[in-house]
This record gives sequence, C-alpha cells and structure tokens, in this order.
Amino acid sequence: DLAHGRILYLEEVSVSFDGFRAINKLSLDIAPGELRCIIGPNGAGKTTMMDIITGKTRPDAGQVFFGSTIDLLRHSEAEIAGLGIGRKFQKPTVFEALTVFENLELALKSPRGVASALWHRLSGVQRDRLGEVLTLIQLSDQWQRPAGLLSHGQKQWLEIGMLLMQEPKLLLLDEPVAGMTDQETERTAELFLSLKGKHSLIVVEHDMSFIARISEIVTVLCEGAVLAQGTLAQVQADERVIEVYLGR
Ligand code: ADP
Repeated sequence: DLAHGRILYLEEVSVSFDGFRAINKLSLDIAPGELRCIIGPNGAGKTTMMDIITGKTRPDAGQVFFGSTIDLLRHSEAEIAGLGIGRKFQKPTVFEALTVFENLELALKSPRGVASALWHRLSGVQRDRLGEVLTLIQLSDQWQRPAGLLSHGQKQWLEIGMLLMQEPKLLLLDEPVAGMTDQETERTAELFLSLKGKHSLIVVEHDMSFIARISEIVTVLCEGAVLAQGTLAQVQADERVIEVYLGR
C-alpha cells in the first residue's frame, strides 16, 4: 500500500512528446490537507504534470494514485474531475453575463448532475454551501453583480469558488495570482490558507513573495523531475536551484 496516508501519489512518471521527455521519472507525494507549491523554470514540466494528474495527458510509464486505492490512470479526464480533483487554469473563465451567484449555482450542476438552476430549488445544504463559498471568496456583497463587472482578482476568486462548490478533495491551481494587485494577492493568500486542511492544494506559481506567504513544502521541478524539495528558504539556498534559475 504505497499511497497510504497520501491524497496524491506519483511514482516514476514519464511522458515524451515526439521523443522529447517532458516528464522524466517524476515522483511526488501530497499529504491530505497539504498546500504544496511547485516552482521551476519554463519548460520544467509543471503544466504537463498537472495534465497527467487530471487525465488530460497519459504518461508512458509510472503510476498515479489518488488516495491509497484509486489508480487515476484507469480513469478518464471527466471521471477524475468527478472523483474530486478540481483544476484552475491561469486565465479566469467565468460566465461574464451571469451574476456571481448564478456562476456558483451553475457550478453545482456538473459533474455530479445536481439539476437545479433556481435558488428556491436548491437544498438547504446546497444553499449553505453557496453562502459559505461566497464568504470564503469574499464576494458576499457582490452576489448579484454580473461576473463581467468584477476585477481580475475577483474573477479568479469566483472561479475558485465555482470549483469549491463541487467540494473537491484536491485543487490544482496554475499561477493563481498572476496579474493581481498586491492587495488581491494578499487576499488570495488568506483564501488559500483557509482552504488548507480541508482541501489539498497544488499551486504552481512564480511569485516568490506569494509562495513565501503560503508555503510549507516547495517542490522545484526541472527537466521533468524533482530537482529539490523543502521549505522555500531551503530550496532557495540549494546550489542546483540557483543554477537553473540564474544559469539560463
Ligand atoms: P512548464 O509548464 O513548466 O513551463 P510544460 O509542461 O509546459 O512546462 O512543458 C514541458 C516541456 O514539454 C516543454 O519543453 C514543452 O515544449 C514540452 N511540451 C509540453 N506539451 C507538449 C506537447 N503537447 N507536444 C510537444 N511538446 C510539449
């Protein structure tokens, strides 16, 4: 039982594109409730790693387990989303013409097929959840606003809120604070710290001050494998890490 006590477990995963090894024997362990930051230079394989976890890309070799029993390589991309792995891409994708509230409501429907477009038809539990998420993403006073009128940061939070409506166990976030103001970045740090524990998070980021604010363990990817892992201070002091960041 290799994956015991882990929410996500990758072992020696490899994938090649036209003979080029984008991911090269990558092993990774994420504990339940952990907030893991992933950094690494461009082309390190960060996006490809996320694609593998979510079933968008199939590895050529290795193992990917969710919890101790679920072999993700046996599941489709849609099934993996349904298992409780949510992914947020860098650009916000909210429904601009719909209100904040409607966006969250809509998020309830898939992939679990909870059919209800109307507030009064939401169950008490769903209503509570929606209110909770609105508070978490700090948009309670904006619930009737069309999403298109929100700031960039608010749209990012709304999309995170849409993922939270599905009560994911694991959230994958790609550069969540890119383009945010300092104040929005700080609020995002608070949001992530409040999600930690209840959810596991994997955050790919370049913003080192944001990482310093939220991180426990930082994993440095390079050439498709783990180059270093530890606290931010530890990896930043690592000669190999300094080399890949400065030596290019
Ligand atoms: P990162 O997100 O860390 O910048 P990527 O995962 O996007 O890195 O890319 C890793 C390497 O794999 C890069 O060299 C990239 O060009 C290559 N790559 C990624 N996806 C594909 C693909 N679909 N076809 C060919 N090469 C790819």
